[in-house]
Amino acid sequence: MTEATIDFKRLLDESVQIHGHLCAGQVLGVRMSMLGLREIGIEDPKGKDRKSLMVFVEMDRCATDAVQSVTGCSLGKRSMKFMDYGKMAATFLNLKTGKAIRVFAREDSREKAKERFPEIENKYAGQLEAYKIMPDEELFDVMEVTVTVAPQDMPGRPMRRVQCDSCREHVQDMREISRDGKVLCVSCAEGGYYEVKEPFLAVRYAEKP
Ligand SMILES: [Zn+2]
Ligand SMILES: [Zn+2]
Repeated sequence: MTEATIDFKRLLDESVQIHGHLCAGQVLGVRMSMLGLREIGIEDPKGKDRKSLMVFVEMDRCATDAVQSVTGCSLGKRSMKFMDYGKMAATFLNLKTGKAIRVFAREDSREKAKERFPEIENKYAGQLEAYKIMPDEELFDVMEVTVTVAPQDMPGRPMRRVQCDSCREHVQDMREISRDGKVLCVSCAEGGYYEVKEPFLAVRYAEKP
């Protein structure tokens, strides 16, 4: 076994542990991350290079967990950004050098993978095994890109905290919106993903003596 194969197996094992099952997404996500990190010159993403790395994932699917597992990047650390594009792609950015590589899973790799092991009856199981061994160039398109990260999107302390003039909740990281002389949070300005049915807690607190 080559060193790269051992690395791959170890990273896949780790990723499966975190994700909860082995699936084609884990294999693709691990391979995608190994390729991306190599291309931007990151050797030790969870150790000495941990502050030099940011990753943009374009899907919230199985592979996203694998990218998190291999890179150590996460939403909570602000080193992972979720771009809701519905694409099996991720961009790996070296914050020190500015080099950014976008890796996109090729559509034709799906069919190729299914045909690779005709002796495996379950075609998804065959596809998963194929993803382990297919060369990078059959699996992925790789492009060099430029990514500009705004200061308010970087890890570190929030640059600003303001209060929404409508709901009175606080907003940080400059996500507020100014409209007609008012400072609003996104949900008040644009309509949020939730609607308040009943502000129970506010009522309960108000009733306390
Ligand atoms: Zn999965
Ligand atoms: Zn608000």
